[in-house]
Amino acid sequence: MSKSALLTGACLGLIVGLTSQCAPARDSTDRAYLINADSEKAGFDTVMNDLAATVNARLAQGIPVPTPRDAGGGYTHEQHKQNGKTIYEAGLLYTYTGDAAYRDAVRDILLDYGDLYPGLALHPQQKEQTPGRLFWQSLNESVWLVYAIQGYAEVRDDLADEDRFRIESDVLNPMADFLSVGQPETFDRIHNHGTWAAAAVGMTGYVLGQPDRVEQALLGLDRSGEAGFLKQLDILFSPDGYYAEGPYYQRYALMPFVLFAQAIEKNEPEREIFEYRDGVILKAIRSTVEQSYAGKFFPINDAIREKGLNTVELKYGLAIAYDLTKAPDLLGAVELQNGVVPTPEGAQLFEAIAQGKSEPFAFSSTLLRDGSSGAEGGLAILRSGPAPDDAAVIMKATTQGLGHGHFDKLGFLYFDNGHEVVADYGAARFLNVEPKNGGRYLPENTSWAKQSIAHNTLVVDQTSHFDGDWRQGQKHAPTIIEFGSRDGMQVAFAEISTAYEGIHLQRLIAIMPSADGRDYIIDIMRGLGQGTRDQTHTFDLPVHFKGQLIETSFEMRHATDRLEPFGQANGYQHLWQRSGSEPLDGAQTASWLLGDQFYTLTFASDQQVSAYFTELGANDPNHNLRREQALVLRTTGHSANYVSVYERHGKYDSDEEVTVFDGSSIEDISISTDNDITSVTISPDHGDAITFHLAASALTRAPLKIERHNRQDQSPEHPGEGSQ
Ligand SMILES: [Zn+2]
Repeated sequence: MSKSALLTGACLGLIVGLTSQCAPARDSTDRAYLINADSEKAGFDTVMNDLAATVNARLAQGIPVPTPRDAGGGYTHEQHKQNGKTIYEAGLLYTYTGDAAYRDAVRDILLDYGDLYPGLALHPQQKEQTPGRLFWQSLNESVWLVYAIQGYAEVRDDLADEDRFRIESDVLNPMADFLSVGQPETFDRIHNHGTWAAAAVGMTGYVLGQPDRVEQALLGLDRSGEAGFLKQLDILFSPDGYYAEGPYYQRYALMPFVLFAQAIEKNEPEREIFEYRDGVILKAIRSTVEQSYAGKFFPINDAIREKGLNTVELKYGLAIAYDLTKAPDLLGAVELQNGVVPTPEGAQLFEAIAQGKSEPFAFSSTLLRDGSSGAEGGLAILRSGPAPDDAAVIMKATTQGLGHGHFDKLGFLYFDNGHEVVADYGAARFLNVEPKNGGRYLPENTSWAKQSIAHNTLVVDQTSHFDGDWRQGQKHAPTIIEFGSRDGMQVAFAEISTAYEGIHLQRLIAIMPSADGRDYIIDIMRGLGQGTRDQTHTFDLPVHFKGQLIETSFEMRHATDRLEPFGQANGYQHLWQRSGSEPLDGAQTASWLLGDQFYTLTFASDQQVSAYFTELGANDPNHNLRREQALVLRTTGHSANYVSVYERHGKYDSDEEVTVFDGSSIEDISISTDNDITSVTISPDHGDAITFHLAASALTRAPLKIERHNRQDQSPEHPGEGSQ
């Protein structure tokens, strides 16, 4: 390695595990490693050269192997984490360059661990449930071994016998023993931590030629198949590759599955692991991409909003998936990332893209069923087209998502034109920002971000779904009533009757092409009282919209000299009430500007609606919350039917000073109930009107009927073709 290469180092956003330490360097490296059709194969050499520079710089400083002392985030914790990756990266560099210095580095670091590891008791800061020895929790130890064993595999054949013996008997075997027989409750647990442990132990088994270890990793400690990697594949992903905690956790959970599966495929292709469960691993990789918009994951549950397709887990996932399938649209997904992993599969991506084999990743409308059998609701994704900036409308009709789940049953998200239009707050957390509660979840994650009012879903009596008890929520899933195309319109329809006692929630979302080629986003949200008529409730429908409010069709009373919280608890205490309207009848509108486009929401209910504008930040002494706005619609009654139609229109071109504002093109929304059927008719000012016929109450059942009223047919020019 030349001196100049050592100097050009800096840190690479795209190399495994360096993102957090090296965040400031990202801008320049992002530019350098954008992949496009012009890339030469030499591009991958650049990736490896820069990896070499980073690793060389670390080696030049010496690699400390300190006695474990600190909890997560502390010095010894971070140093051991980095050392695991250094072993891995030096191993990759040895294979790529043939430079013996990298082999010796892997050997020397592992020998230092050989001096340390046998003498370690449990970590002094041990987490009670799952203590490690090198780290405070054994999860980190599993991750360390996954990296280290891959690095070791690259050099093992070229080491002296005595070094190999020491490394295996003092580090790799004792650690694999500790992570398996040493902690059976974690190893045999059907949980993400169990997957990391199985991957670490199984991959070690392959490298060291220990079929028994591999069997335990695949089938559980007793090899019954009641635990282990295969059982985890059975339980943790739905048949469509959806992971119950949502996409943010899915990409993290995916990593050990993908890496161990790749090791299984290389060592025992006869197991056909990528065919297992109808190819669920590849489905999970694809579904992670599907659950993104403009490069970021849908921010559902405790999601860090910045995370998206660029995450290293998904880079491994796509590299391995492409290696197996050679599907050209996976290259299209890779082109949405800002780099590749420094592995042979990563090199292959560069090459294939340079050869022009890439096709755009076709984002599609899809229902990702939830639950291991696919029967526990699902995430409904409607897209107006395959391009990354086409509209996407999401309904979260999934299970709770365990302790990281939010109380957002039938929650609605709307993306369009490359923007979030109606959004989810995500997690209240600043990852790795020490002054913000050490980078951990903030108290406001519970008091605001998880609460129902923080979501675009119906909130009854100002309480959260399942009364904010996730264990209760975990017992119940929504039912998908319908998903698919009807009469040129895409529809998703779901319900749940357990989020509130005595209230049946139903939601229908649809994308309806309009006469001028744009799309209407239709949202019918219903709260149907199951008690007697005199039992009334308050029904709040929040719309967490992005952009600048332009106008409303109704008058508002604005707070002028003081702000009051919008409520007392369940997240309401964090909202300032900025303005409120009198009770409103009929269809009303609110319009806002977002980017260079206007959006108009036309809404109506079968009850009078009061509209409120709120701003986040009340009862937030540490400024932990972003100052975001919402429109909250409120009715009181036995039941509520809210009908909302979103449309994009006009333009706001500041360069040309051209502004076109069209406003709502919805002439009328009518909601009527007759003979146990509630009919919702949406009438645009031109083009077909559409009627949805729905069961009027929770007690009656009726299939969804959708009826289109063709204006041409009804017009005087065609008197003989009246609508049926
Ligand atoms: Zn949320």
